[in-house]
Amino acid sequence: MPEQYLAANTTADFQQQISHFRIRRLLQITGFTLFGLILAMAVAGGTTKLLILAGCIALLVAGGFALKQQALISAYILLWSMALMLSALAYVSGGLRDLALLGFPGLLVYAAILGSVGLFYSLLCFVMAFCSLVTALTLSGRLHPVLPALGWQHLLFVAVILAATGFSVYLMVRDMRRLMLSLQQENEKVRHSRKEIERLAHHDPLTTLPNRILGEQLYNQLLQHCREQQQQLAVLFLDLDNFKPVNDSLGHSAGDILLRQLAQRLQQVLHAEQKVIRFGGDEFLFLIPTDADKQQLSQLATQLITEVTKPFSIMQTDVSVSGSVGIAIAPGDGSEFNVLCRKADLAMYKAKEDGRNTFRFYDDKLDQDNVDKFNLLQRLRLAIKAHGFELYYQPKIDLRSGRISSVEALLRWPQSDGSMISPAEFIPLAEHSGLISELGSWVIHEACRAAARLRAQGFSELRIAVNLSYVQFKNTGLEQVVQQALRSAGLPAAALELELTESLLIGDTDFIQHQLNALSQLGVTFAIDDFGTGYSNLSYLRSFNATTLKIDRSFIASLCVSERDEPLVQAIINMAAGLGLKTVAEGIEDAATLQRLQALGCDEGQGFYWSAAVAETVLIPLINSHNETINKQNDAI
Ligand code: C2E
Ligand code: CA
Ligand code: CA
Repeated sequence: MPEQYLAANTTADFQQQISHFRIRRLLQITGFTLFGLILAMAVAGGTTKLLILAGCIALLVAGGFALKQQALISAYILLWSMALMLSALAYVSGGLRDLALLGFPGLLVYAAILGSVGLFYSLLCFVMAFCSLVTALTLSGRLHPVLPALGWQHLLFVAVILAATGFSVYLMVRDMRRLMLSLQQENEKVRHSRKEIERLAHHDPLTTLPNRILGEQLYNQLLQHCREQQQQLAVLFLDLDNFKPVNDSLGHSAGDILLRQLAQRLQQVLHAEQKVIRFGGDEFLFLIPTDADKQQLSQLATQLITEVTKPFSIMQTDVSVSGSVGIAIAPGDGSEFNVLCRKADLAMYKAKEDGRNTFRFYDDKLDQDNVDKFNLLQRLRLAIKAHGFELYYQPKIDLRSGRISSVEALLRWPQSDGSMISPAEFIPLAEHSGLISELGSWVIHEACRAAARLRAQGFSELRIAVNLSYVQFKNTGLEQVVQQALRSAGLPAAALELELTESLLIGDTDFIQHQLNALSQLGVTFAIDDFGTGYSNLSYLRSFNATTLKIDRSFIASLCVSERDEPLVQAIINMAAGLGLKTVAEGIEDAATLQRLQALGCDEGQGFYWSAAVAETVLIPLINSHNETINKQNDAI
């Protein structure tokens, strides 16, 4: 409940309670005084009786207003009528020494407690003025007070005045005590609610772990403590690697259960002086006082990752995730909480880049890399606008006929100094920033135009392969881009092959499958790139509807070196043949490797053995001379 609302509510309740008390007391005091006056009236005589009668009538009127909840008017009538009645009684009887004056203190006490400031001061002034007037009149001989001979009725008057005053004061003081008590209780409640609100503001409701706000306070306290103990404070940033698929496939409540179970596990790993904080969604922060023993911190990070990777039992399903950890240490890497968090986060990203499910320490190079990446991204944006890219083409050779069957289009980013930035460097950045969609569309268009030009120059059977990033499938419209590129270049769809990696098929499979089907309907074919490095899952292969498998060059490069790779390559080739897929070996660099692959039954090859990727102007003489050599060889046979 919001604090303001709580306070307002309490104040309103409290005021209502006071007004309720006030009315009740007014009625009780009026009733009690009326009873006393009636008794006094019974024994009084002459003018006194009339005055008391007038007082009784005024009391009835005051009671009436109290019943109508008009507490202040009722208090005014009650106190003023009593003050006037007592003054009149004193005036006609004993003057300043009359018994009636005994009632004044009581009236002033009521006025102070039940009435308003105005009522109290007006009554006080009146009483003082009256006493002064009576004194002055008596001393000047204009008033002659008559003190009647003492009788039993005087005892009754005194008793009535004292009892009415005493009883009323008693009631009011008791009320005040009660109010004080209830005020105390209210205060206690407010204090409790404040504590609860504070707890909620500083803890994550799902896991009950401290949140980021409390995390910062804990960090500052621990840092101070570490300084005193000549220690350092390590900040470990843990991020789950694949939490999103859990949420997406099993629902958010499953994700919540996982996070709660994980929070418990993580807490169990830590000692009392080590703290864990829920930093955000699937991110946890650990504050670890340390003697900067990297080995000890590495052990802890490994232990945390082990806890993350143990399966979670959620809704009768075993769910597995992994986690990456980044570590920064105060004061070496900085002393401010935000700085340390940013650096630990940067190190965590490095851990993700290096294959996930691992940990990395922050070092200044990471910051520099980040700046470099940022600068590269700015230049990439400008280069896309200025059409500052080129396509190079690398031939693929049919290993049986020896002829060039197709070329793979590979992006090049030429620099003003004549150097090239490798696509391996800028493609991930373009993917990450989303720029790949625009860049990729240009590649498709340019590759189709180049293929059409080459076919027009006599290489009529030549096909072209274009690499596609999974990010290009995220936006709809890929099919239209391909269709338009083919149409505007006048290239038959069968001449275009799209190279995809298996990573494409994790994620929103239905959406991607739909696009793959649409592209397939156009007549283009698919090749699976870098096969063997990804999931190599046969069921994925079927979904791709691919015609070609490209065996990753890491297996090819070591084919003649490592004995381990040959059975693997053989198995891939056999499996592909079984599935009716063509195999292409990437990265063939020497004749020995080529011969092994021919012996293993591989269909096509690509690599520096024939040629690196070259510009279109270089490609044409290259194909011509290659064809000439093949023709000569054939003639010789
Ligand atoms: P990839 O698709 O596996 O392309 C093959 C890479 O291996 C090319 O590097 C090529 O130059 C290199 N290569 C070819 N033969 C040999 C060899 O015999 N030995 C060695 N060591 N390397 C060889 P490149 O051009 O630097 O491209 C790197 C990666 O960048 C490509 O790998 C591809 O994934 C990506 N890429 C290139 N162009 C594009 C593009 O237009 N779009 C997308 N999405 N990605 C692209
Ligand atoms: Ca490729
Ligand atoms: Ca490849």
